[in-house]
Amino acid sequence: MKLTFWGAAQQVTGSMYLLELDEDYRILIDCGSDFESRNRRPELEDEKPFPTALFPFEASSVNLVLLTHAHIDHSGNIPNLYRDGFEGQILCTDSTFALASILLKDAAMLNQKRLNEFKNGNAKKGQNRGKKKDLPKDLYLEKQVKEALENFVPLAFNRRFRVADNCVVTFIHAGHLLGAAHIVVEVWENGIKKTIGFSGDIGRKGYPLLLDPGTLPPVDFLVCESTYGNRLHEKDIDPEAALADVIRRACVDIPGRLIIPSFSIGRTQALLFTLNKIYDNRNFPPIKVFADSPLALESSKVYQRNVRMLNREAREFNEENESLFDFENLIYLESTDASRAVSNHAEPCIIISSSGMVQGGRVEYHVAQNITNPYCTILMIGYCAEGTLGWRLLNGQSTLRIRGKEEKVLANIEKIDVFSGHGDRDDLVAFVQQQSPLHLKKVFLVHGEKSSMDAFKATLGSAGYQNIEIPEKGQSFEL
Ligand SMILES: [Zn+2]
Repeated sequence: MKLTFWGAAQQVTGSMYLLELDEDYRILIDCGSDFESRNRRPELEDEKPFPTALFPFEASSVNLVLLTHAHIDHSGNIPNLYRDGFEGQILCTDSTFALASILLKDAAMLNQKRLNEFKNGNAKKGQNRGKKKDLPKDLYLEKQVKEALENFVPLAFNRRFRVADNCVVTFIHAGHLLGAAHIVVEVWENGIKKTIGFSGDIGRKGYPLLLDPGTLPPVDFLVCESTYGNRLHEKDIDPEAALADVIRRACVDIPGRLIIPSFSIGRTQALLFTLNKIYDNRNFPPIKVFADSPLALESSKVYQRNVRMLNREAREFNEENESLFDFENLIYLESTDASRAVSNHAEPCIIISSSGMVQGGRVEYHVAQNITNPYCTILMIGYCAEGTLGWRLLNGQSTLRIRGKEEKVLANIEKIDVFSGHGDRDDLVAFVQQQSPLHLKKVFLVHGEKSSMDAFKATLGSAGYQNIEIPEKGQSFEL
């Protein structure tokens, strides 16, 4: 069989690996949006809004997709696969199906908006809107999302499931996000069994709400993410205490407003649950919390519905309080008008808004409104890709170009990493060390910046793992 790395190869986003079995059966593992290539404009300028060749293989030749988790850099291109001729099914866990539905519908809605702007721009001559090159080539609409969602097949965790005569797959808890899985693929060819483990994104132990990542059985080949392959999280920090400290500084001592850029799905629920506990335990003044995202509300409902899939602390808290997230001072903001209006809220408050990297979305507006406000604190809580506004804030730039204006950064910038959903270098090493270096034939490092992969490879090398590849995009390996 052959494994080809079509995405997240020497970069973070766009996870997509094609496993071709000898019996002419092709499995695609993840089919995510590639934000890094999309940002490399010169290569990608395409004059057609709907090009036919998005995938470097025939979409119709793929038999099955296995989806590790709902994040858009793993799931975001699935509707395009159908658009381009794929007719198979998507296997994932139940919660991944629920969260992917929210994310893909939202992406289609945003695409529709961009398409409308493009059409309007063309209709109104002389306006500098709607340039074709500004439309991404992976743009899909509601119809493709609907078709994709009709073909999702939810599977339980830890159950071996036969997908072909010679192939069995198993989904194992990966932490990271509700529903997220490591996937183990067992293949029998010429009387020999070979096993491949796909890490998906690896979570961390003790993360709010989520179960700890599970353990893989022995595998022959391991495809391992390496986002934090060269970094360590601060150890032994209690999320509740860390967040309460920041709130005290930002909203009580200054006192001002606290803006927390956060992805609506997953990280926002971890924040809201932690806030709920803070308000429950710590005699806090009634500072309002605005969860500024319709997606956050929908995903909170999915978490609430799937409380049995969460960790013990969350289940017990829910039992006692009859809810994970509802507390008196929490207000979800659904409409754009409500979101804009919150900028005029005079009292100290907390605004949680997406996206986490401060790239587009409602949070960009809040940050633009408050970047010159010394009474405002912006709390960064996760990884930001190079070049994003979040990355610039984290780098301590004294000025910031935002929404077309160069602004002085007068707001206070803080960061904590307890809410990052990715395991750090030690967690990644521990994941690989579940496998004996004597049995493991090869490790493929994916889903990381090259510098992180190089460092992680060196670390694994000194731990006794010698056969480590850092595949380039399009590189194939016979397994
Ligand atoms: Zn992820």
